[in-house]
Amino acid sequence: MFFSNRKRIALISVHGDPAVEIGKEEAGGQNVYVRHVGEALARQGWQVDMFTRRAGPEQPKVVEHSPYCRTIRLKAGPQEFVPRDEIFEFLPEFVQAFLDFQQKLEAPYLLVHTNYWLSSWVGMELRKKQPSLKQVHTYHSLGAVKYKSIPTIPLIAKTRLAVEKAVLETADRIVATSPQEKEHMRSLVSPNGKIDIIPCGTDVDHFGSVERQDARAALGIAPDEKLVLYVGRFDPRKGIETLVRAVHRSCLRDSGKLKLFIGGGSRPGHSDGQERVRIEGIVAELGLGEITHFPGRLSREELPTYYAAADVCVVPSHYEPFGLVTVEAMAAGTPVVGSDVGGLQFTILPEETGLLCPPKDEEAFAIAIDRILNHPEWRDQLGQAARKRVRAKFSWDGIASQLNRLYTQLLEQPAKKPTQVSA
Ligand code: UDP
Repeated sequence: MFFSNRKRIALISVHGDPAVEIGKEEAGGQNVYVRHVGEALARQGWQVDMFTRRAGPEQPKVVEHSPYCRTIRLKAGPQEFVPRDEIFEFLPEFVQAFLDFQQKLEAPYLLVHTNYWLSSWVGMELRKKQPSLKQVHTYHSLGAVKYKSIPTIPLIAKTRLAVEKAVLETADRIVATSPQEKEHMRSLVSPNGKIDIIPCGTDVDHFGSVERQDARAALGIAPDEKLVLYVGRFDPRKGIETLVRAVHRSCLRDSGKLKLFIGGGSRPGHSDGQERVRIEGIVAELGLGEITHFPGRLSREELPTYYAAADVCVVPSHYEPFGLVTVEAMAAGTPVVGSDVGGLQFTILPEETGLLCPPKDEEAFAIAIDRILNHPEWRDQLGQAARKRVRAKFSWDGIASQLNRLYTQLLEQPAKKPTQVSA
């Protein structure tokens, strides 16, 4: 069995497979985060194993991304897509599969970094069996915040809230991706536990690689046309409806120059397919069909062109723990109009790199979008400041260096026995 002298870490992301195509159902920021953190850590000298649930018999069990970074897919429950709210019952099988895999290695992992509450439970169970194991956790989404913004609370909510509290209180370190997320943990989850703030990152060179004019030519956008862009999953929490209604209120609506692109994948019959149909219905009802285009899932190669071509990128989420799309658009030199929530309050500097609006407030979004579209020189200034901010604060290598320091410091600390917790 292959064994290197590198420091080893297991990144656990039960439902967010770092090796799948991003933009498909339930594949979003978490998948991107785990994959890029993994690859950047490998460049910084770690041996990185990323564990996820196998969601199809055709999926390879192991995917090698680079010499020291691989995805390992474990069997836990049916080998098919399972919505994240229905995965909890399969976690004991995931824990066992992890232990079986680990047994074949020359030495056990000393450190796990778990992602999302499902994986945090796996990490806590592993620590019961292996008390010297250190656990770092990133939430990606907090039930306590999410459940405030949705009309129907799922059955799993009670378990999720209990697990989220337990991991905050027992993990060696929690990584909050913004000061706003840390504040939510403290006010809504628990006053106990150790939290560091280390943001998400982005590939600034990749997203900044296309010139605006080339991008617009490639997408057939004329110099005098205005392009408003959304990129992301079709999920009601993303607030796409607010954007569509804001565009309907825009003073440029009937100018013949306004275009709205809503990018992201969806599958008929799945939850994201339902939201896509709902959004298409609103577009039709408001008579915006002529100016609205749904390009579908955008690949990593296509995204820089879309971001660079846009006059403004809109992130109208009801709740957003960090929001990778924001920093990707900013890296491309495009200002962002976002909801005044969570991580968007951290990444967007209002009036400097973009604008913030109250969530669900279509009128405020319309005014903000129009302000940017009607002032091209200001738009360029905002875009340049946005790009500068991302370069300085949100590069993956910079983020991985901060994680590297945290992990190294934890590995140097003597192990403490974890408190017993039950969900
Ligand atoms: N994404 C993509 N193609 C698409 C739609 C989204 O690659 O068609 C990517 C996007 O570039 C970003 C991620 O999916 O990296 C979404 O992350 P974000 O944090 O904005 O939202 P989440 O999905 O985590 O709620």
